[in-house]
Amino acid sequence: MGSQEVTTFQDTWHGKNITVAGLGVSGVSAARALAGFGASVTVVDGGDSEAHREKAALLNEAGISVQLGDSTTLPDGTDLVVTSPGWKPTSPLFAEAAAAGVDVVGDVEIAWRLRGPNAAPWLAITGTNGKTTTTQMLASILEAAGLRTAAVGNIGTPIIDVVLQGDDAYDVFAVELSSYQLHWAPSLRAHSGAVLNLAPDHLDWHGSMEAYAADKGRIYEGNQVACVYNVADKATEKLVEKADVEEGCRAIGFTLGTPGPSELGVVDDILVDRAFVENRQKNAQELAEVSDVNPPAPHNIANALAAAALARAFGVEPQAVREGLRNFRPDAHRIAHVADVDGVAYVDDSKATNTHAAQASLASYESIVWIAGGLAKGATFDELVTGAAKRLRGVVLIGADRALIREALERHAPEVPVVDLDRTDTGAMSAAVQEAARLAREGDTVLMAPACASMDMFTNYNKRGEAFAEAVRELGATSV
Ligand code: ADP
Repeated sequence: MGSQEVTTFQDTWHGKNITVAGLGVSGVSAARALAGFGASVTVVDGGDSEAHREKAALLNEAGISVQLGDSTTLPDGTDLVVTSPGWKPTSPLFAEAAAAGVDVVGDVEIAWRLRGPNAAPWLAITGTNGKTTTTQMLASILEAAGLRTAAVGNIGTPIIDVVLQGDDAYDVFAVELSSYQLHWAPSLRAHSGAVLNLAPDHLDWHGSMEAYAADKGRIYEGNQVACVYNVADKATEKLVEKADVEEGCRAIGFTLGTPGPSELGVVDDILVDRAFVENRQKNAQELAEVSDVNPPAPHNIANALAAAALARAFGVEPQAVREGLRNFRPDAHRIAHVADVDGVAYVDDSKATNTHAAQASLASYESIVWIAGGLAKGATFDELVTGAAKRLRGVVLIGADRALIREALERHAPEVPVVDLDRTDTGAMSAAVQEAARLAREGDTVLMAPACASMDMFTNYNKRGEAFAEAVRELGATSV
């Protein structure tokens, strides 16, 4: 019990030698903030392109040094390294820092330390999938409750910039945290935290499933009111058991089934709270209806329950939960219905960049032509294909690691027709949509939920989703 003391006074940065690793959005934000508090800041980045030099010139004007083309040498006299989320813990710069006895932290840790004494509390969310959606749902609920809030962290405006708007600017934050950010945020102590689910992802970064889970579990450290976990995912509950929390902090489960005491769940298509009510042994409080959740797919109802649990932990009234969920609109490329063409629905779930996410979206439709493939990031596809086999009308494969999916289909769903496009160029998406249209029958859903990252073919998952939507539009224009 009890939490570690941290200094929140902004002047403690004065005269410190800070090395910022990475010239990305969060690195630039950290560099500017710390230089603003009188630190002597050097940003290091392995790149040395025209774009890098332009950014460096702007930072130089603010008195910040930049070391380009060398991301491995720790500048002399460094007191603290501030890393960007993408840098692996095994990066040589961190080995140098460790040898020199210098701490490495991330932008979230800096934001946490820059908070003033009356700063707004953080309601924090992590998980393998559903983080952004749940964080936005939570922000929408908090807004509906009349609170001044923002969705921050791994999303939106850099968290340091938001914190620097001052303690009076917000009442509460909805904070999305990636496993990387948690790894580098040792003194973070959220008001309440949630781990939505845990499935293997980013293991190349963390080194092992245990290390990945342990980083996710850090979100519960020092929680004051509630540690929210997924009843259907025992690993999340285990992380709560391991956490060192404040006296009186409660473990709160969410479930798609009937909730027990101290849980939120679903009864007869109603989202109910049996945690934040008087006499929870006997009572339950209606929060919303399943139809208030957009889209009302099972995994998304779970997201809504987790968001509701955090809001209720903060004292939000049931009516605001319903209103916030109704107001919420999901971001693009997350199970987005693009169009119906010839009686077939076309759905863009480009954000399904791992098998766990694709599994959730494949479970949301009855008869599917599945467009899949890309960069597998070390994943295997047997479980995914076995679970989805009965729903598959056909499959169209694209991307670098498509053979892994094809082999899993051969093993577990040999009767399902598969078109292997053997392409990794950007134009392959248009061909994939045309092949999918040929396989689909009226009433089917063509679902682009690739279960893989996009970078073999596209700049990012947004571009992949846009290419899909464009291809569907072309199809609509040519269909009769
Ligand atoms: P994240 O921020 O964690 O990447 P998003 O909210 O952006 O999560 O959703 C990413 C994808 O994960 C969605 O497109 C959807 O396919 C899937 N997804 C969303 N919520 C869940 C969930 N609770 N469980 C499994 N998959 C989910």
